[in-house]
Amino acid sequence: MSYQVFENINRGYGASTSLPLNSKPSTPKRHVHANALGKDEVILSGEKSKDKQGQKDFSMKEGGLVAALGATIGLVVAWVKKRNIPKIKQLAEHIEFTKAETIKDAIAFGKKHLGIEKYSNFSDNDLNVINWINEGLVSACNKMRGKLKMPKLIHIGDELSDISNPLAAENKHGILLLNKKFFNDIDAAVNIAINNASDLLFSKNNKIPLYLNRQKALKLYERISQFKQGKLSTLGQKVMLLDDMLKLADEVGFMQTHPLEKIKAIIDMPQWSSIQKRLRDDIPEVDVLEKLSVDDQYMCLMKIMCQMKKNGVDVGANGVESSPFRCIYHELGHLQDIETRVMSKDGFKNPSEYPKELVDWLSNEEYMKTASKVSQYSCSGPAEFIAETYAQLISSHKLPDDVMALYKKMNGPIVPV
Ligand SMILES: [Zn+2]
Repeated sequence: MSYQVFENINRGYGASTSLPLNSKPSTPKRHVHANALGKDEVILSGEKSKDKQGQKDFSMKEGGLVAALGATIGLVVAWVKKRNIPKIKQLAEHIEFTKAETIKDAIAFGKKHLGIEKYSNFSDNDLNVINWINEGLVSACNKMRGKLKMPKLIHIGDELSDISNPLAAENKHGILLLNKKFFNDIDAAVNIAINNASDLLFSKNNKIPLYLNRQKALKLYERISQFKQGKLSTLGQKVMLLDDMLKLADEVGFMQTHPLEKIKAIIDMPQWSSIQKRLRDDIPEVDVLEKLSVDDQYMCLMKIMCQMKKNGVDVGANGVESSPFRCIYHELGHLQDIETRVMSKDGFKNPSEYPKELVDWLSNEEYMKTASKVSQYSCSGPAEFIAETYAQLISSHKLPDDVMALYKKMNGPIVPV
């Protein structure tokens, strides 16, 4: 059982570090995360202003990057450095994606329609990956009506040999780095994620766990079954399944570590007053709840969720079905972001290294509450909130008003509706 996924959130959110209840599900480990999370920015960020925020300076980072990624990527970085930082392009307002039959054709497509200057290290085995990345970029371009910054270079390689880094992007210099190992082993990665998530997704008596939204859980079971039967054929479908499972795990994990936040969100719902009448004797007022242990709060949350389900309101974790291209959109979000921000607390060894901007972000309860509506990862740092929100907007997901207000306040890149 691993709770490492939520360790950082606990730290940043000032919440309890109490151990989980026996009845709580285990959660999948982050090492199969499909979100291009974790080390993407740690390895590749090259923002000069980071040093004032207490992170490593540009040259150290870049030196580290070259050393870590070897000679090939060293040449890649040299190639990019000779060029300017990507600027906003005006591509065609609508691009029709066509699946290429060869790597050569896929590269030609990207150069012609997407303004990608170079694809590096793609071999014939990577045809589905290059088609996937091109299709994802096309769909983002179309949503942005052709006006956006694009990566200059897309490199696929073994440099990020850890499966936890499936996709990585350099923010300001326009390298999009893909983890060849992950994509070549996508079935293995999905299988690991299914195994890790099995306690979370399936209860022993074959009932849908209370903390899951019934409809969403059924849909997810169906997709897992399709995957196991070999019916999920495209790379995008598999990436999306993996992504959705991990998002769901994040959401359930957040309920476990921050049950009071979930209870407060339910109390804000219009249906609450009728539910409350039925629960009056069982659930104390918020000021009393606040004094309870996290485990007791979680028990109250489960009682509330049970009663809500009986009343036809399902507030279980619903792990929004994302998009086959969500991780591409996320990286594009970093690229579009005109502000220089601290990325994620994951980039720091311990909280004493956190720059003030990050401390302020993590300790702002209002921000955490809002960001958690996008994803748990978006809580981990201001730049991740922007990238995660951007990814949702590109997917045309409607986001709550407070999320949009914070995104606007922080000057997040505008996405046409
Ligand atoms: Zn990111």
